Amino acid sequence: MKGSVANESNSPAGPDWLEPFLSGLDEFGFLLVGICPVVDSSGFHRLVEWIDSGYNASMEYFPDRLEAYRNPCGVMAGAKSILVVASPYAASPRAPCEPGHGQVARYAWSGIDYHDTIHRQLKSLKRLVAEYSSKTNLRGCVDTAPLLERELAELAGLGWRGKNTLLLHRTHGSYFFLACVLVDEVLPYDAPNEKSFCGSCTACLDGCPTDAFVGPGIMDARKCISYLTIEHRGHIPEPLRPEMGDWVFGCDVCQEVCPWNRKPSRDRPTNQASDAFRQVDLLELLRMDETEFREQFKKSPFWRTKLQGMQRNAAIVLGNQGNSDALDELRRHVDSEDEVVAEACRWAIDKITGSPR
Ligand code: SF4
Ligand code: SF4
Repeated sequence: MKGSVANESNSPAGPDWLEPFLSGLDEFGFLLVGICPVVDSSGFHRLVEWIDSGYNASMEYFPDRLEAYRNPCGVMAGAKSILVVASPYAASPRAPCEPGHGQVARYAWSGIDYHDTIHRQLKSLKRLVAEYSSKTNLRGCVDTAPLLERELAELAGLGWRGKNTLLLHRTHGSYFFLACVLVDEVLPYDAPNEKSFCGSCTACLDGCPTDAFVGPGIMDARKCISYLTIEHRGHIPEPLRPEMGDWVFGCDVCQEVCPWNRKPSRDRPTNQASDAFRQVDLLELLRMDETEFREQFKKSPFWRTKLQGMQRNAAIVLGNQGNSDALDELRRHVDSEDEVVAEACRWAIDKITGSPR
């Protein structure tokens, strides 16, 4: 069962629902599954240190729910086992950035919010389990529950946590989401992964444009382009703006330089990239009002960042590109009531014209 969802032949027998559940994963396009017992988190102290160092930036949901991270029972009382699953996202090659466009993290290329998709799939699997066992309690979690998913994935034998902090699989690299299904039954468990295959490689640490890695496996979110362009509200610190380069939403540098992601890969039907989301037209973003943004992006990953965040990012990328075609649109925003967008536009104008206003 460890690894591929299709490779179940060696798995010991479990409850009646387990076999159809695993087959269902394959049907929904999940890539990997592993099963681990519910135990106290061995990485809890690292999480505490990370927060104490301020590396969580403004992501207060870490300290606010700290105790729940100690043990997965903080998410579901009575949980005994966890099925950790991986759902692939777009892995096809990235095209060079078109002028006037911004690069988007590949997890968003489908244009669909993965929480919605994976939750829907996990709900269907829950219904399937109910057909076999009315007593089994399950809870599916995607990213938003206080679980250390990468640690659980290692415990379930899916791979190792790379120096870039992400879970790596020897065949599938790191281009996938992790989700967890907590169950109140004892299941047959996979052997934990105990080996890192990073070796002496430091490509991710060296390649990070903003030096966000404090050390192997430790990332300071305050410097991470992914955090700054997606989660962060307000102004982006000026010294980091030039390093954003073309990134308007997220950053994949520490994944794309990783040798474990080098295998040529095609997108699966379930994670097809949409051209409209691979790269975004920055002037279109700047021209949008709230209604248009809602109509176009309500169901997409951009919705989290909101129009203000996307326009702030768009202005910075236009500045980085030195795009003089954007000056008229940038000037239209300099006196905007939205000071975050207005200030980013003023900064971009200065960058393009080479002179402080
Ligand atoms: S996502 Fe980008 S900015 Fe963040 S740690 Fe990775 S390479 Fe650095
Ligand atoms: S780039 Fe190298 S060091 Fe970083 S996660 Fe990949 S293999 Fe490990």
